[in-house]
Amino acid sequence: MTLKHIGEFGFIRKISSGCLVRPESVIKGIGDDAAAFQTDPELVSLVTTDLLVEGIHFLRDSISGFDLGYKSLAVNLSDIAAMGGTAREAFVSIAIPDNCPLAYLEDIYAGMKKLAARFEVNILGGDTTGSRTDLIINVAVYGTVAQNELLSRDAAQAGDIIFSTGFLGDSKAGLHLIINGIAADSEDLKQLLQAHLLPQPQLREGRFLAQQAGLHAAIDTSDGLGADLGHIVEASHVGARICADKIPVSKNLESFCARFNFDPVDFAVSGGEDYTLLCTVAPDTADKVAADFCKTFQKPLFPIGEISDSGRLELIRPDGRRLNVSASGWNHFKE
Ligand code: ADP
Ligand code: MG
Repeated sequence: MTLKHIGEFGFIRKISSGCLVRPESVIKGIGDDAAAFQTDPELVSLVTTDLLVEGIHFLRDSISGFDLGYKSLAVNLSDIAAMGGTAREAFVSIAIPDNCPLAYLEDIYAGMKKLAARFEVNILGGDTTGSRTDLIINVAVYGTVAQNELLSRDAAQAGDIIFSTGFLGDSKAGLHLIINGIAADSEDLKQLLQAHLLPQPQLREGRFLAQQAGLHAAIDTSDGLGADLGHIVEASHVGARICADKIPVSKNLESFCARFNFDPVDFAVSGGEDYTLLCTVAPDTADKVAADFCKTFQKPLFPIGEISDSGRLELIRPDGRRLNVSASGWNHFKE
């Protein structure tokens, strides 16, 4: 048996038991976007870490050092955002093959520092080592959140309205251009490429959501709407219905899909790495949360469906057809 048989999430489940030997201070261990633990009576500490491996998460020929550094930090900040937190300190570990020019490495740090400065995150340390062939970058981020503002995947309730803080599917379209060597010869294709290479962590949006009455569960969209909403459904022991015609699809993705003959809904549901936030909100405060979000950020909070008690994740097509969505958006290893 290898990882292919149980998948990334099956593996994580397998290794989870026996990990906690001092459970008293732990609020969230393995299984949420970041670990949450108590270091202070009111303040919760958050820690998240993400590994980017050449050939798996990026192709060195197709991404500038700057964009790679920016993205390596962005994906971690996104996990802090999903917990409602403020990011504070970052640690960067890097395994460098002989053929990697110093200028590329310096660009990685330029990209990382640019984003770190924007969100007032210190880079406090890390580790450097050699690698036989692939460039590997690991970033870990520490953050904090007030105890009563901590967001998690496991708090959705039947009847909640599900929202996304932004468009879904753009990043997958950008990846399609890279993998297939298609030149971004128009403004819309350039923006799709940008969505894939320079994801914008929604830290301010996460802080806003954490302070709203009736805000129940949250997660960031790293694996795709199907998989990420699947994590909420599984952790909260609920179900969910998403309406295909409400899924926020950008004009850029629409024109990409028209040109290359794809279904934008497929891209939105199965595409990963958009790094928007998904949240579920009690029905009686959902309208107010959406209106206040729009006033604060000058952009919509998109309602895409509701939490049910069915135990299933269903997609309702405009013609009324109900499809079961599989949770395998970006499930590494599983065939
Ligand atoms: P995300 O996509 O939000 O970064 P992941 O799917 O990578 O989250 O991880 C889900 C959960 O599993 C997190 O709590 C993470 O810390 C934990 N996790 C992932 N891999 C491991 C591992 N090898 N050992 C222990 N915990 C892990
Ligand atoms: Mg996450």
